[in-house]
Amino acid sequence: MSIQPVGNASGRVIMGQKNIWIGTNWKMNRGPAEAISAARALSSFRPPKGIRTFVAPPCTSLRDVSSVLQDSPMIVGAQNMFWEDSGAWTGEISASMITECGASMVVLGHSERRQHFGETDWTVNLKLRAALRHSLTPLLCIGDTLNEYEFGVSQETLARQMKIALHGVSQEELARVLIAYEPVWAIGSAGRPAETAFVSKIHTQLRDVVEDIAGRNSAVRIPLLYGGSVSKANICEYVALPDVDGVLIGRAGWDPADFMSLVDSVSALVSSEVHA
Ligand code: PEP
Repeated sequence: MSIQPVGNASGRVIMGQKNIWIGTNWKMNRGPAEAISAARALSSFRPPKGIRTFVAPPCTSLRDVSSVLQDSPMIVGAQNMFWEDSGAWTGEISASMITECGASMVVLGHSERRQHFGETDWTVNLKLRAALRHSLTPLLCIGDTLNEYEFGVSQETLARQMKIALHGVSQEELARVLIAYEPVWAIGSAGRPAETAFVSKIHTQLRDVVEDIAGRNSAVRIPLLYGGSVSKANICEYVALPDVDGVLIGRAGWDPADFMSLVDSVSALVSSEVHA
């Protein structure tokens, strides 16, 4: 499935016209057998108009999930990749290996990779540019730590992560990037969902940084997703925010029935709400 930039000339979008992105990252869950069965459960799902869905299985399940979902609107993505095309990089997978598995997206810079596997802004930039070279859609994850949040420097951290990750990316390529703001303190079972007022403020600031990078007159609207303890109880509040273009879901989206129900729960917002 091809991914089109969305937006209007002013850069601010009418909700009914923008695409909402809803995806789930399975993390290190589901080997091929379980992944195939979950993908089958998702395969006949048709999200409401205006909503694009994606799933990021572990790399060992990527080929099977892509094949089960090949006729479905569900986009399939990897959770990570290396920036070189091939060579002596034990344990790594390349962008072309991901595309050969039938996937079209890749999650990059997830905070768990930054925290536990030494991912840096610089390596995220190398990966993002390699993904674009291979026509993958990068979903760039950025996030502030609890310390940064408490010291009031979230915005500085996020702007730095975004600027470095997108360094050297052309305007045309920018139109193919998605960004997810995922506060580290909001992710996982120990996390608490970020307050909507805070997410709204951060996303508006991020929109400004993106506009600085893309150029003020650019009609490209890079989708800005929120992630971190999204659930049935809060998904609509996040998606209704004017500068939020969707959500990246972990735990609450792992069960296919729950995922489809989360997607369906925002359908009324997509068709009825209007933001100037
Ligand atoms: C994540 O880790 O990207 C995430 C959003 O997790 P959760 O929804 O489980 O907090």
